[in-house]
Amino acid sequence: MSTVLQSYALDQWMTPTAGLTDVPSAIDGRVVARVSSAGLDFRAMAHHARTVGAPALRALTFHERAERLKSIALYLTDRKAALYALSADTGATKTDNLIDIDGGIGTLFAYASRGKRELPSERFVVDGMTEPLSKGGTFSGVHVLTPLAGVAVHVNAFNFPCWGMLEKLAPAILAGMPVMTKPATATAYVAESVVRLIVESGLLPAGALQLVCGSAGDLLDHLNGQDVLSFTGSIETSSKLRNHPVVTANAVRFIAERDSLNAAVLGTDAVEGTPEFDLFVKEVAREMTVKAGQKCTAIRRVFVPRALEAAVTTALTSRLDGATMGDPRQDGVRMGPLVSRSQRDDVRAKIREIARDAEIVHGAPFAGDDSLPEPLRAGAFLAPVLLRCAAPMTATVAHTTEAFGPVATLMPYDTLDEAVALVAKGEGSLVASVFTHDDAVADALVFGLAAFHGRVLVVDRDCAKESTGHGSPLPMLVHGGPGRAGGGEELGGLRGVYHYMQRTALQGSPRRLTQLTRRWARGAPAPAEGAHPFTRDYDTLEIGETVMTAPRVITLEDIEHFARFTGDTFYAHMNEAAAKANPFFPGRVAHGYLILSFAAGLFVQPDPGPVLANYGLDHLRFLKPVSPGDTIAVRLTVKQKRAAKVPEYGEVRWDVEVFNQAGETVAQYDLLTMNARRLAAAAS
Ligand code: NAP
Repeated sequence: MSTVLQSYALDQWMTPTAGLTDVPSAIDGRVVARVSSAGLDFRAMAHHARTVGAPALRALTFHERAERLKSIALYLTDRKAALYALSADTGATKTDNLIDIDGGIGTLFAYASRGKRELPSERFVVDGMTEPLSKGGTFSGVHVLTPLAGVAVHVNAFNFPCWGMLEKLAPAILAGMPVMTKPATATAYVAESVVRLIVESGLLPAGALQLVCGSAGDLLDHLNGQDVLSFTGSIETSSKLRNHPVVTANAVRFIAERDSLNAAVLGTDAVEGTPEFDLFVKEVAREMTVKAGQKCTAIRRVFVPRALEAAVTTALTSRLDGATMGDPRQDGVRMGPLVSRSQRDDVRAKIREIARDAEIVHGAPFAGDDSLPEPLRAGAFLAPVLLRCAAPMTATVAHTTEAFGPVATLMPYDTLDEAVALVAKGEGSLVASVFTHDDAVADALVFGLAAFHGRVLVVDRDCAKESTGHGSPLPMLVHGGPGRAGGGEELGGLRGVYHYMQRTALQGSPRRLTQLTRRWARGAPAPAEGAHPFTRDYDTLEIGETVMTAPRVITLEDIEHFARFTGDTFYAHMNEAAAKANPFFPGRVAHGYLILSFAAGLFVQPDPGPVLANYGLDHLRFLKPVSPGDTIAVRLTVKQKRAAKVPEYGEVRWDVEVFNQAGETVAQYDLLTMNARRLAAAAS
């Protein structure tokens, strides 16, 4: 018996009673779910997200949101077997599930960990350095990022109902925006189950996640300039959404991931017998058959040097013959069916179009179901199809028509420049992979192709074992592409999070910027000096606390001693004539490392205390040479504090400025230390 899918709206599960659409199993066509969004009040849902979900998420810090994402990932991990079982009816094999279910959960883990590591334990991000904007130093500027105050509407494609949903959900929630997610109808039953588990976990605040099963209705009519519309699917639907009058009039942020005629290019050096030739054939066959080719990153166009075309065709054909197609639940099956018979009709129609530019050299896409083994006849099975386009320079549809199934077109090229020009005919793609072990070939192809792609993968014998392959973007790398692939949005990683935030320039006095950003800006007054900050734990340190050290003269003896002791006898420190000949130095000068070491000697408080470790310097610059006889002094200021992953420690960023006797800055840098927290100190 099929299930009527529920939507999750206004923190309640809603059952539709009208307008139900049957969703067939990809394996045997039986109805597995019935779907409709009739009766949903999209205006109320958007309002609920903005007024209930958004404030609740914004009240959490990035670290707290990241913690929730991690807990959701753990919750789903414990229950993923049920999702695998459900996913078989979409046509997914065990390997396909690894991408969709495990990959989706992995994305949550990745954002959680990146959020904890790289975002502050705050509700906003300070982006970049504070810039002085006036001569007297009383007026400065800095950028901050804050979450948009709207709702993130996610419209997803059918092919990865779990991964596709979670790779959008994770950055939005981490940024602090509530989500309304709309899965594609064909596989909505998997997405519904994932949302059901997330809701059941109780880990997201009320209003933070709503689910629309069925069509998007008039949802877009209710969006405004604080909302984000993020779409994955075909170029046709994308154009409709981008040009929706409300989306245009209200300047709704729009992100699209769509059709992509991804390419794989075999280098001219990768002749038969080389590891790169074999890797190429294996990867093209894999990309054609994983998820039955219904992957946004699948290789659609296969470019090979003309002299290698016959050899590639033979090797590829034999590999495709070995890809067992069948019921995805069975062991040994490498390729399942397409998601539905209507999708198969669409793929066949696209093959017909491509065949205007090319001939079919492997597969029989138009043979009836009778040509399939009996158990597969009721499903949406389609064996891999390889086409060959003999004159790709004059072809058009072969470069711009995406058959979203196990279909690729082989195209010969004569020169590397021609290969680049041919790939570019795809009008912008998510990913291209280049198979070569030759430096010049790699150089020509990679820099020729980069402008047309969000990601370029270079495969050779050195990385093949550990490479994640053509089709697997890691969650923290760019996923998206220019032109046809969506428009060049740089999704993935923290940029994906920042897409849900507004970047705002703040201007004001250094004191005001310090107070607002919780990061000390040069020129801000220091709190009254108390005990040395090295004697106080993380929690009692105040931003802006400053130590001004006593001066120290640097002698020639110091420099020579340092040189002998460290072995750094570079001429600028040891040879007066050679140093003078150098355009930067008046004569022998102190080592930069000597200045750093002496600076530490001036500012540290040596007793055991809460400062546990120095773990690095950022933004180090030596600005003026220090000559023998010069005097240096150091100003050390608490610049920023950041809670660490573990509760016992916190990271303290110190602003360090080293001056000479004329008050000129000779060096500046940020020093990072790990400091014990008060709780830890109290417990010990
Ligand atoms: P699609 O037909 O364009 O549908 C995508 C989504 O849009 C579905 O949720 C669909 O809902 C919804 N939709 C359709 N018409 C709409 C409208 N007028 N208003 C609002 N929403 C609407 O694409 P698909 O067949 O699901 O997916 C296959 C395509 O996705 C391929 O072209 C593939 O290249 C692309 N894709 C791209 C990426 C990428 O990252 N670039 C990733 C995956 C897939 P219903 O299902 O309810 O109609």
